[in-house]
Amino acid sequence: MSYQIAIDGPAGAGKSTIAKAVSKELSFVYVDTGAMYRAMALLCIREKIDGGNEDKVVSACDSADVKITYKDGAQVVMLNGEDVNGFIRTQEVGDMASTISVYKGIREKLVKLQQELGEKENVVMDGRDIASCVLPHADLKIYLDADVSVRAKRRYDELIAKGQPANLEKITEEVKERDYRDMHRDNSPLVRVPEAILVDSSYMTIDEVKNAIIAEFEKVRK
Ligand code: C5P
Repeated sequence: MSYQIAIDGPAGAGKSTIAKAVSKELSFVYVDTGAMYRAMALLCIREKIDGGNEDKVVSACDSADVKITYKDGAQVVMLNGEDVNGFIRTQEVGDMASTISVYKGIREKLVKLQQELGEKENVVMDGRDIASCVLPHADLKIYLDADVSVRAKRRYDELIAKGQPANLEKITEEVKERDYRDMHRDNSPLVRVPEAILVDSSYMTIDEVKNAIIAEFEKVRK
């Protein structure tokens, strides 16, 4: 028997930081599903495929081999045999991921892979459709949210820390656009399912959010 913890929420709510911390504390496997969409996006960018061209995007991604492996406990996304972790964290890749993740053909392929991972191990999985679609029977469902201004500032700080150019106003607009696209698409939009516990991380520390989630998990642990 394995446990599944689903964490959904908008970009910049802190899902991956929190999911990593929770999985470490519980010794569960962390599955970052956004990284899979990002790998597909990277493929499209590299092959100069227009993100708006559904047929071309789906056919390129269909023939791509995406795998998840783990190195020193951290998730590594393999795209056609190449470790692409170092290339998928840019704004450009994130925006392309949001553009192409609206396509059913892309989602079906990645959801299948995510479900296989969720069946094998105790997992903490983060994304947009984990509770609603990927792991509908998850033991614990969390909707992690934060104010738009706080999320934009986090992205801004991340980019500055990496020495990349950043403009807070522009990032705020991009975060809003990404939210809108993720919440209004036809296929598996970002939603808070009724049974998900809402955690607003705007003014909480990482430890506070982690502890709140662990406390909720202790209530459902069998
Ligand atoms: O979470 P992250 O920013 O890495 O996700 C990148 C994009 O991938 C999101 O904006 C979203 O459009 C898409 N995504 C998705 N479903 C998931 C995870 C990510 O559609 N489960």
